[in-house]
Amino acid sequence: MFGLDFPNDPNGNDFDDYQIATRKTAVYSQDKALEYLSLGLCSEAGEVAGKIKKIVRGDYEGKGAQAYDEVRKKILDECGDVLWYVSELTQLLGFKLSEAAESNIEKLRDRKARGTVQGDGDNR
Ligand SMILES: [Mg+2]
Repeated sequence: MFGLDFPNDPNGNDFDDYQIATRKTAVYSQDKALEYLSLGLCSEAGEVAGKIKKIVRGDYEGKGAQAYDEVRKKILDECGDVLWYVSELTQLLGFKLSEAAESNIEKLRDRKARGTVQGDGDNR
């Protein structure tokens, strides 16, 4: 899916293929990798929030569908940046990106089944 010559997973896991692709585009010192990736993730999440803040503030009201579509695409681009940092951070911690996706959806399905999606705490 990401133009790779070798699929990471014989079953064609897109998350893990993407993680291979992010490795090939990574340019940062491994000495400070944890700090770099953590700060980068927060920075990109902030960029997502900043664009949404401008929508909430009303910056696009009355500017038509094209303006809204443009900011929507900018948010998509920033979400991709967030995903890149998540991919690299999970790799640094020794996990496949697919493991993060799978464990997250398992956790949320369990919470939904138990009626604890809303609330506080990591272990609910
Ligand atoms: Mg960005």
